[in-house]
Amino acid sequence: MEKPYTADKDRYNKMEYRRTGNSGLLLPALSLGLWHNFGHVDNYDNGRKVIQKAFDLGITHFDLANNYGPPPGSAEENFGKILRDGFNAYRDEIIISSKAGYGMWSGPYGEWGSRKYMIASCDQSLKRMGLEYVDIFYSHRPDPNTPIGETMTALDHLVRQGKALYVGISNYNPQETKEAVKVLKSLGTPCIIHQAKYSMFHREPENGLLNVLEDEQIGCITFSPLAQGLLTNRYLNGIPKDSRAAKSSSPFLSKTDLSSHVLTKIKALNTIANKRDQSLAQMAIAWLLKDDRITSVLIGASSVEQLDSNVGAIAAGGFSENEIILIEQILNS
Ligand code: NDP
Repeated sequence: MEKPYTADKDRYNKMEYRRTGNSGLLLPALSLGLWHNFGHVDNYDNGRKVIQKAFDLGITHFDLANNYGPPPGSAEENFGKILRDGFNAYRDEIIISSKAGYGMWSGPYGEWGSRKYMIASCDQSLKRMGLEYVDIFYSHRPDPNTPIGETMTALDHLVRQGKALYVGISNYNPQETKEAVKVLKSLGTPCIIHQAKYSMFHREPENGLLNVLEDEQIGCITFSPLAQGLLTNRYLNGIPKDSRAAKSSSPFLSKTDLSSHVLTKIKALNTIANKRDQSLAQMAIAWLLKDDRITSVLIGASSVEQLDSNVGAIAAGGFSENEIILIEQILNS
């Protein structure tokens, strides 16, 4: 029988912690997301080992959402089971986030940003994870048909009910961000964090969002920093059967995303990474962390080995001017 889990005593010396905007909350430079690899379709023991390894490496933040799985909800159920399997002993050392916004149940109250949906969804998430509160609760996407004040008031309500300690937003554009932040400020519940898609291959936040977050002193946590695995050595020699691009349960990355043009860029970036004595994944993470507006880089991992290796990005040196220029040339080619 396996021994009960005990965390590595040295874990906090292995990670860097960054302040989330101007809040009191410190987040690890690397956070772990449970969008893929933690659903009922996946191997539970592998997921549990990845979570435990993450914590041993100083990763204190685990990111979930109502719909993560598949099936939707099953990542939260599995995470609840991992907590009950001994991890809960560390609850006060862990930041758990969840979100509501995308389709979760049928009918008019199962998605978007109404007060009805946001509050019911948070209650469901807490039940699935067996928690009394989450540390961060997000509006997962803006709702064009619900007044932004209604969605933000629902977030504020969850904090006042003690079901969330902090609130954040995700996938809001710069203008929507400004509006959400203003309402939350007026309610007395600050927006402390924005979760945005940002990687070498996806630069949208540079077009205004990062400036808004800096002006408003809000943290930024970047999702899909490895472009779902493209910015790693995963696809250098073809498409492995167990990879996200090959799995039918992962419709968000497909074989067609791996065009010869993309592959050429990946190979050129990999050459630069190797010259820096790094893996491509480590370089892609370090490239995001060089900007101190980034609070945390939110990675995914399907194995303990991937996770272990990616945390090596923390020890990476900075980038020379020449390296930055070369990387830009490749990305713009
Ligand atoms: P990444 O870009 O980090 O992709 C993770 C995938 O990359 C892994 O599953 C693995 O793919 C591959 N990978 C990671 N490390 C390595 C390595 N060292 N070598 C080879 N392959 C590697 O992030 P995700 O797209 O998974 O997103 C991370 C998190 O962001 C999510 O879990 C979720 O919490 C959040 N998110 C939020 C969204 C939002 O709307 N707010 C939307 C999407 C994500 P493989 O499985 O093939 O091994």
